[in-house]
Amino acid sequence: MDYIKRYTTREGVRMAVAVTTATVEEARHRHDLWPVATAALGRTMTGALLMAGDFKNEENVSIRLKGDGPLGIVHVDAFSDATVRGYVDHPHVDIPLKRAGKLDVGGAVGHNGEVQVTRFTKLRQDYTSQSPLQSGEVAEDLAYYLYISEQIPATISLGVLVGTDNTVSVAGGFLVQALPDATDEALAKVEANINALGPITTYLSEHPDGEGLVEHVLDGLTVQEVYNAPVRFQCTCSRERFEQVLMTLSDTDKRDLLEDETTELVCHYCNNAYHFSRDELASLFDMK
Ligand SMILES: [Zn+2]
Repeated sequence: MDYIKRYTTREGVRMAVAVTTATVEEARHRHDLWPVATAALGRTMTGALLMAGDFKNEENVSIRLKGDGPLGIVHVDAFSDATVRGYVDHPHVDIPLKRAGKLDVGGAVGHNGEVQVTRFTKLRQDYTSQSPLQSGEVAEDLAYYLYISEQIPATISLGVLVGTDNTVSVAGGFLVQALPDATDEALAKVEANINALGPITTYLSEHPDGEGLVEHVLDGLTVQEVYNAPVRFQCTCSRERFEQVLMTLSDTDKRDLLEDETTELVCHYCNNAYHFSRDELASLFDMK
């Protein structure tokens, strides 16, 4: 039921909405994330999905949050087909809650550091740029990045609500972008609509499918849906890819691996484990 939808308006405002509850829950489950790690990675996954298709040319987006907090690096890859993967360096982080029992994502990511964004397609050279972290709360950091590095004025709202059993109750967000021809009147309307909306997690708790969110944020504008795709966690790793990596090892390292009955390789991005028996490796390496 996770999705991303994109909208244009006659008044020069664009909007993307994503509901990512099941996708973030899959990331939590795969990486055994503790709550604040779930929130940080989930917000970043949602933000990357919103930013990935934001340009026309089938663009993929990688986001790295490199803060000085205990999570270490938060890395996400979102692909133009609305699949996403990601990890945090340290999934088992537990820091005190903020006021009103809120998870301290900024404290876990860190208040100092940088956001690094890479946009890449099959056709063009990668484009990487960065900006300083603002709060570590992710949405603000990504909005600042878009403004400073890509000259895109945007409002981003991202939310992940973790339940008492530590699973993901709701996750999602939206990105609103003003195009150069946006009218002041339209921007003022949207700003007032967003201010009246309240926290995104509260909205999604009451409307888990995100229903009515676009109508709320773009109320008063002439809206057209231009894109709608299901979102899911998916990694690009495979047994064949790991075989290729193994083949690049030195002969000494290959012989070392052949000492063991089985070799386990784990994908950083999705935590899938691949097992190779000694016989399989011997024939792969053509060594006995
Ligand atoms: Zn993987």
